[in-house]
Amino acid sequence: MPASQHEDCIFCKIARGDIPCTSVFESEELIAFLDISPVNKGHTLLVPKAHMETLFDMPAGIGEMLFAAMKQVGSAVMKATGAEGLNVVQNNYSAAGQQVPHVHWHLIPRFADDGYTAWPQGAYQDMQEMAALADAIREKL
Ligand code: 5GP
Ligand code: ZN
Repeated sequence: MPASQHEDCIFCKIARGDIPCTSVFESEELIAFLDISPVNKGHTLLVPKAHMETLFDMPAGIGEMLFAAMKQVGSAVMKATGAEGLNVVQNNYSAAGQQVPHVHWHLIPRFADDGYTAWPQGAYQDMQEMAALADAIREKL
């Protein structure tokens, strides 16, 4: 097992071929395969082969390669499914819906009539609350 992988992680097991997947793309660093429970058929997961739990554990240099694969695989998913749109979703930590603690990107083909809606959106009390939160975020950069 490569040192960068975890013994018991399901996506590490898929990356090293210990359990099967329906692969659509593979490079030295990445693998993409169909999600077993798709939002829409063709829903694909793009996964770094090295074990990293979340976005925040990833090295900076990986971005360009990851983005290129996201575009290449995302475009192929759209063409193959005839999708009219594509959601790219990435969940960090269980509070945000992350079920598999090995970082991955969902490439979800979308159709104008598929009936799915985005999260409900709220409102700020006033502009001061909004500005104070922006200040707090800037201070943490
Ligand atoms: P998360 O909720 O962590 O962002 O997404 C995990 C995704 O992995 C889910 O959409 C789930 O359906 C998918 N998944 C979980 N286990 C397996 C598996 O063994 N094989 C495949 N192909 N997908 C899986
Ligand atoms: Zn892993």
